[in-house]
Amino acid sequence: MPAERTLAMIKPDATSRNLIGKIIAHYEAEGFEVVGLKRLRLTLDDARAFYAVHAERPFYDSLTEFMSSGPICALVLQRDNAIVHLREVMGATNPEEAAEGTIRALYARSLEANSVHGSDAPETAVTEINFFFSEEELL
Ligand code: UDP
Ligand code: MG
Repeated sequence: MPAERTLAMIKPDATSRNLIGKIIAHYEAEGFEVVGLKRLRLTLDDARAFYAVHAERPFYDSLTEFMSSGPICALVLQRDNAIVHLREVMGATNPEEAAEGTIRALYARSLEANSVHGSDAPETAVTEINFFFSEEELL
């Protein structure tokens, strides 16, 4: 299968606990190559734009405030079947439902503060990669 790219984020609850290295180590051990990497803080408007698909959901205001509350790490990860495989390594959105050994089972604090993001489909992966990175930044 040809290499595929997906967009990952390490969320503020995880950067604040110094988990960037541990989480990236999980991804590298799963065969992902880190082809883009930056640490930044989203403004509230940035977070609202990134999560615009959820604008009508009851958790949107709280989620976007949380996502702009501290630094995040944005990564572009590359391997075969990257989008689906990353979602498997992350575990279910709700950490109480996340399979043993997944990132969210290991590190998430709550349904909202669930430590990591991963794109959910090829179209969203392209949009989300372009949200953070220019083509020259992906090596
Ligand atoms: N979220 C939340 N409450 C919910 C559902 C989701 O706070 O009931 C947050 C959570 O941080 C999640 C993010 O909103 O990761 C995006 O939700 P989505 O359903 O896209 O989950 P994901 O794709 O991140 O697993
Ligand atoms: Mg999602």
